[in-house]
Amino acid sequence: MPPSNDLAARGAGIELTDLTKRYGDFVAVDDVSLSIKAGEFITLLGPSGSGKTTTLNIIAGFLQPTSGQLTVDGSMIAATPPHQRDMGMVFQHYALFPHMTVAENIAFPLKQRKIPQSRRAELVQAALATVHLGEYGHRYPRELSGGQQQRVAVARAIVYSPRVLLMDEPLGALDKKLRDWLQLEIKRIHGELGTTFVYVTHDQDEALVLSDRIAVFNKGRIEQVGAPDELYERPATLFVARFLGESTILRGEITPDGIGVCARLLNAPDALPGGPGALVVRPERLAVRPADHLPDVGWNALPATVIGEIYLGSSRKLELKLPDGSSALVREQAGNLSDARRGDAVTMTWRVTDSVLLLDEPDVEAVLT
Ligand code: ATP
Repeated sequence: MPPSNDLAARGAGIELTDLTKRYGDFVAVDDVSLSIKAGEFITLLGPSGSGKTTTLNIIAGFLQPTSGQLTVDGSMIAATPPHQRDMGMVFQHYALFPHMTVAENIAFPLKQRKIPQSRRAELVQAALATVHLGEYGHRYPRELSGGQQQRVAVARAIVYSPRVLLMDEPLGALDKKLRDWLQLEIKRIHGELGTTFVYVTHDQDEALVLSDRIAVFNKGRIEQVGAPDELYERPATLFVARFLGESTILRGEITPDGIGVCARLLNAPDALPGGPGALVVRPERLAVRPADHLPDVGWNALPATVIGEIYLGSSRKLELKLPDGSSALVREQAGNLSDARRGDAVTMTWRVTDSVLLLDEPDVEAVLT
């Protein structure tokens, strides 16, 4: 759908090449390369301290990288100061000016850019309408709720039609219900504007809802970049499998003769000669059948015991214990529940193509069977 908003801008493409940021001996961002496409919504996702904010601040120009390159639409911008980068920024804490009205706050970046008064009023109104706060221009920030203040912060960041909008945990201070609603608002605004959005969060659900693509950060490096479904269905590392959604991880020894459980070989062909490996299966791809069930062709099966049941309304989670002592999580949809109960001996089964084989990671304690 073409952008339909008065503030629409042609999004810029951003290229990070071998970016590194050191603080003394500590490497906060470690050789990060990432191509952000013009107009896309990309999320930098990772745990606390993984280097997301540092990367965003390098893009914004608040920090200089120790080494590496940053280009916007093909031009190097290392020497361009933040206010000349044509980027808007929204932080977790709204950073509105308390002594200015909402309209004055939003007009502030237009004044800095010497936009004439009459045009300023039109743009402020367009920005307020975009965040659905058309009637609130005369209020002061203290007269607004947290969610409304954050929408004003978004309006102030988009009012001059920047080609890139950088957002650092913008919903982090809000309660869950408001956050869920504002996620949809941010997604709608992205669709209306055509601006490139770079969004930082540690919340995997938020990343899945919002993003065209997600870059998963771990210890200053990018582990994997891809569309939400790609990361969820085909995680490239155990870290990504665990960080994004729930997974059952079956550890073992990879045997070249093909005996034992099988997996779709996506990411780890080098693992085939042998050595520790892990199969990742999402809980909703696992099923529980009676203990004497024989798997069909193309299916794997393992004996298991049900050790826990959690009723969740629309689904039920079963925790199973496997023969090697490890546990597995199975999610059954309501309307499609098995008869299995706590204490039952069962067969856990799944399609070969629903599991991904990964190399075990050295910092993960391996439980080999
Ligand atoms: P969070 O979600 O907690 O903000 P993050 O992924 O955004 O985490 P960064 O803020 O990018 O992480 O920080 C990455 C690492 O760099 C952290 O370990 C942090 O302590 C370190 N770091 C950041 N700024 C400095 C600094 N000025 N001096 C030294 N270390 C720093």
